[in-house]
Amino acid sequence: MLLELAQEQKMLQKVIRDYATEKILPEIDEYVQSSTFPTEMIKGLAEIGVMGIPYPEEYGGLGEGMVTFALALEEISRVDASVSAIVMANSSPATLINLFGNEDQKHRWLTPMITGQFIGAIGLTEASGGSDTAAIKTRAEKVDQGWVVNGSKLFITNSGNELNGVAVIAAQTGEKNGKKLTSSFIVPRHTEGYIVGPKIHTIGWQAADSRELTFEDVYLPDDCLLGEEGSGIRQLLTSISYGRISIAACALGVAQGAYEEALEYAKIRQAFGHQISKYQGVSFKLADMATQIDAARLMVQRAAKLADMKKDFRKEASMAKLFATEMAMNVVHQSIQIHGGIGLSKEHRISKMLGDAKLLEIVEGTSEIQRMYIARLLGC
Ligand SMILES: Cc1cc2nc3c(=O)[nH]c(=O)nc-3n(C[C@H](O)[C@H](O)[C@H](O)COP(=O)(O)OP(=O)(O)OC[C@H]3O[C@@H](n4cnc5c(N)ncnc54)[C@H](O)[C@@H]3O)c2cc1C
Repeated sequence: MLLELAQEQKMLQKVIRDYATEKILPEIDEYVQSSTFPTEMIKGLAEIGVMGIPYPEEYGGLGEGMVTFALALEEISRVDASVSAIVMANSSPATLINLFGNEDQKHRWLTPMITGQFIGAIGLTEASGGSDTAAIKTRAEKVDQGWVVNGSKLFITNSGNELNGVAVIAAQTGEKNGKKLTSSFIVPRHTEGYIVGPKIHTIGWQAADSRELTFEDVYLPDDCLLGEEGSGIRQLLTSISYGRISIAACALGVAQGAYEEALEYAKIRQAFGHQISKYQGVSFKLADMATQIDAARLMVQRAAKLADMKKDFRKEASMAKLFATEMAMNVVHQSIQIHGGIGLSKEHRISKMLGDAKLLEIVEGTSEIQRMYIARLLGC
């Protein structure tokens, strides 16, 4: 498989790298420290087309694929993982609507989400559990020309900021032949009974926006049902593999940023009369970090390339997510070690990367869930 980037991909990568370095890096720490949503940065990324990278041009996207989107997420995450989380979280409902929405839904919801008019959220997790997708309790009852939704969702990223315009949520819609039916619904922001809770503060993604959502007799017209009733789990399992590539790319960026910080620091920090990079105890750590990052990048590109070629990429996406997120946790840990005490200062960007890396191991399926899924695809 040829992994050489095309000229246009390299150009877009440079545009995003420049944006991340010039517009995000100088200011993002203030947003992270104050847990403030970086509205203008997200608008700026939308203006250069980042939100629309993998989506068809006819709906306002760039018509590029997952390889290019992964490059973009890596570049943003290299500077800050909250910002890449917002882009990634917007892509989850966008991908669902792109794959399963009808023409009207795509024009009404996908186009604004990928051209920066508003951003979307995906609502799957509930207080009762996130890994066990079949256990959701939110219910949608069929009524005349629509549905009435009751229930709640937890940790829903992108759901409460001023740019949010929509959430796609999963809800139970009854039973067929003794099996629960799960369906996906498009829920416009500001629908009556749709209550957005306060921001949940986490140890990573501090500038992003994760909240509890409550639905109290929320009426949704029939055209808010995504695809067929009962196809929610199938839709989710299809789209989640795209999300796993995205999370793996975010992890790759975090690791790359942490490694670059460590390398730079090791070259200037002196101990016992020498640069610490001269000591094998430090340089071997850097060699391992660079090697692990390289391996993860190849895995992310392979999964993304398979997705772009419309081949089965589920196993490769899960493997990339598992490896890249655990790798990022390890690389950040080693980078802090190389920084010594200063790496634990809250003012140093390396310290916030620890929370970001840990978060990436949990979202879009924990490491345990990835191992379960990979083992199942291996035939275990
Ligand atoms: C900041 C943040 C943002 C998020 N954004 C979103 C979002 O936008 N939309 C959304 O829907 N969700 C979101 N989530 C939720 C996230 O996807 C879930 O937290 C994650 O899927 C894990 O679910 P859980 O927290 O309920 O853990 P649980 O499912 O309760 O799992 C707890 C532990 O048990 C392990 N476990 C569970 N089942 C098994 C098993 N069968 N075998 C072995 N181990 C098992 C898990 O791996 C984990 O270690 C977000 C979470 C956070 C923290």
